Amino acid sequence: MEPLYIRIHGRDNVAIIVNPEGLPAGTIFPCGLMLSEAIPQAHKVALRDLEKGAAIVRYGEVIGHGEQSIARGSWVRAEQIAMPAAPSLDSLPMATAVPSRLPPLEGHVFHGYPNADGSTGTRNILGITTTVQCVAPTVEHAVRRIKSEILPHYPGIDDVVAITHIYGCGIALDVPGADIPVRTVRNLARNPNLGGAVMVVSLGCEKLQPSRLFPSTESLPMPSGEPYVIRLQDEEHRGFGEMVGAIMRMAENRIKELNDRQRRLCAASDLVVGLQCGGSDAFSGVTANPAVGYAADLLVRAGATVMFSEVTEVRDVVHLLTARSVSVDVARAVVREMAWYDDYLLRGGTDRSANPAPGNKRGGLANIVEKALGSVAKAGSTALMAATGPGERVLSKGLVFAATPAGDFICGTLQLAASMNMHVFTTGEGSPYGLAMAPVLKVSTRTNLADRWPDLIDVDAGRIAGGEATIEQVGWEIFHAILEVASGKKKTWAEHWDLHNDMALFNPAPVT
Ligand code: CA
Repeated sequence: MEPLYIRIHGRDNVAIIVNPEGLPAGTIFPCGLMLSEAIPQAHKVALRDLEKGAAIVRYGEVIGHGEQSIARGSWVRAEQIAMPAAPSLDSLPMATAVPSRLPPLEGHVFHGYPNADGSTGTRNILGITTTVQCVAPTVEHAVRRIKSEILPHYPGIDDVVAITHIYGCGIALDVPGADIPVRTVRNLARNPNLGGAVMVVSLGCEKLQPSRLFPSTESLPMPSGEPYVIRLQDEEHRGFGEMVGAIMRMAENRIKELNDRQRRLCAASDLVVGLQCGGSDAFSGVTANPAVGYAADLLVRAGATVMFSEVTEVRDVVHLLTARSVSVDVARAVVREMAWYDDYLLRGGTDRSANPAPGNKRGGLANIVEKALGSVAKAGSTALMAATGPGERVLSKGLVFAATPAGDFICGTLQLAASMNMHVFTTGEGSPYGLAMAPVLKVSTRTNLADRWPDLIDVDAGRIAGGEATIEQVGWEIFHAILEVASGKKKTWAEHWDLHNDMALFNPAPVT
């Protein structure tokens, strides 16, 4: 392979090395640039001499300033770059550059499970909600038996999932922030892939009572008018065997209802696709995220909902998000979520700069500014139609910012609560990530990862770096893969191997 670097924007004074093995000192590029030292793949090379204090520009944006002078052709390392302050939230452009609507994309369909509340499932799953961690091992025991003894008789059911968590007792409930984990557990039960067949297992004495979790029938679809709740401490259960028997009987009743459902033809507009990255590298913003962003634009044009999240990974590009918000109200909602998170991090004695992980830096990302510029590429180019808080249901169509932490499992859990029925996950360093309640389509940023993990990566966007495929081609590939997986015609690798990371609630409130 010829020596190759990628420069994203005409203003950039650094570029990243494409060659998988990196390049040795003395390498000469076709443009005449010579490397003065060896540079690993995905790391940055200086395209011109940079004075001490000079702006270092990638994606056409300043990612930091030189701590020292850096000569043309040398390796621009993370420790040589002083990070700029995050954009102030007080003077942002509000709905000043709203993108015009892209032409509608018609005729794209999938086969899904329409639900009574208007949402659509891509899978037919029984979810068993728990109010407190105390009941989790009992429910998990029951789920193992349901899967081995009951499920074989009901081929229309994809899975039975115990929605367990560490929340529910030993907590302060009537305090700021507690609404986040409570609404997350509630809205997880209402995820479209669970078909509205909510059943709840409670201990009895816990703080988070079922009536607190589901205060009204509007918050819980109950066809018979009765909540489907089992309390393990009720006197009718004599011993563990009877508790498990009660859970299994109730589960079978719900499974019978779910099993009668058939997949029906649905428009692509019924999709609610959650986007996330994990284990990002310097290629994330060059290959996988722009390709996912292209697919996001296609989904929006087809009338679907597309959410992106991960507050700390977009905090440094908030000025781009408020400018492209469809209205000043939406821009204000973005600012509200960012301000809440700034305050949350400040109380914890940190800020967004705590985000990059060692693997991100090994993958060539200097700091959170560079990571954010790559991350936001996932959001494509359409107007931002709404911004919601952590664990809230997303009801808008089009592109939505669903604020969540960036940690993969917490973000995935909150996107499920937001009503995601398909998940797309981009990764550079690699993660065998998966979720129990929605299919996870994994997109690699580099071909060497896809080659090393051919049975975990669903789409290789690394082909874009070497010019073997375009962003548009891989974008269409991701779009078609989403429709095929949503129809159940194809399983993702995470589904094939049954990879389910734990659900992880975001609880910013005190525990007692
Ligand atoms: Ca993440």
